[in-house]
Amino acid sequence: AKKKGKGGYQHFSDNLSRQNDEFSVIEQKMHEAVENERFELYFQPIVDSNTHRIVSLEALIRWYDVEFGFIPPDKFIPLAEKNGLITVIGDWVIREACRQLKIWQDSGIVDIQLAINVSAIQLNNPKFAQELYQTIKNSGIIPGTLYIELTETTIINGEQEIFVTLEWLRSKGIRVALDDFGTGYSSLSYLRNLPIDILKIDQSFIRDINDKNNNVILSAVIVMAHALGFKVVAEGVEERGHLAFLVKEGCDLLQGYMFSRPQTADDITRLLLKETKE
Ligand code: C2E
Ligand code: CA
Ligand code: CA
Ligand code: CA
Repeated sequence: AKKKGKGGYQHFSDNLSRQNDEFSVIEQKMHEAVENERFELYFQPIVDSNTHRIVSLEALIRWYDVEFGFIPPDKFIPLAEKNGLITVIGDWVIREACRQLKIWQDSGIVDIQLAINVSAIQLNNPKFAQELYQTIKNSGIIPGTLYIELTETTIINGEQEIFVTLEWLRSKGIRVALDDFGTGYSSLSYLRNLPIDILKIDQSFIRDINDKNNNVILSAVIVMAHALGFKVVAEGVEERGHLAFLVKEGCDLLQGYMFSRPQTADDITRLLLKETKE
């Protein structure tokens, strides 16, 4: 340890080591959580922008720890990507998503799609696509009802093989959504050849609806995405003003707190059953 009184230095290193301690504690807890499957999937509805009916759901992982409470995925997923646990966690997400989707389909809810988030590390595993396909097949869910979300950075930083992988998945009926679009600095020429089905516009663009320049970009992105044959999802729709603009611009699908927060499978089941009765 350094001597005290060296300006802000001591303070800084104290903070740093405290942060490291916290990280290693979380890391240790993460190992335990993985072993004991202490995770849960929540599901957030994605609705048709005209009818507001639920078209699909995004599975979002939740980790509740008795000591720390909810540890947000924004915090532990990046950590799991560094320590390699993302592979095991990701496999669990796939199995659990299939299991839950099967339950819904067996109860008569057959027209809902389910999206899972896949990280770059998972995708870079050469066995990933084949294993995903097998898991889906073995689960007995209706083909084509489970799809994956990949962030823009995952795809643009990826190797050329990723394109082949994505084409293969799509040929097997596993659609691909490009997540967080607009945050990864992908070039337009890149977009031209992208083997994807759905483009999810990042929340930051939705938050800035009202800003003139932002809206020009947003409108252009929607037009461009449609011309390239993609469906467009707007994420983080929170206000009526957002909704009005997005509907006017022809955005296909909407996701955000205005419609629903991520919820447990039980709550989503009630919601879906209510909808089918309407
Ligand atoms: P994401 O994939 O971009 O997921 C959307 C995030 O935005 C979710 O946060 C969701 O709860 C939140 N959100 C949805 N609507 C609104 C809204 O109207 N307003 C605001 N402020 N937020 C909204 P969440 O669940 O905390 O997840 C954060 C990130 O963690 C995800 O961002 C994704 O990158 C990652 N993540 C979550 N689950 C998984 C998973 O199973 N696997 C992997 N690899 N990553 C995951
Ligand atoms: Ca996502
Ligand atoms: Ca996103
Ligand atoms: Ca995000």
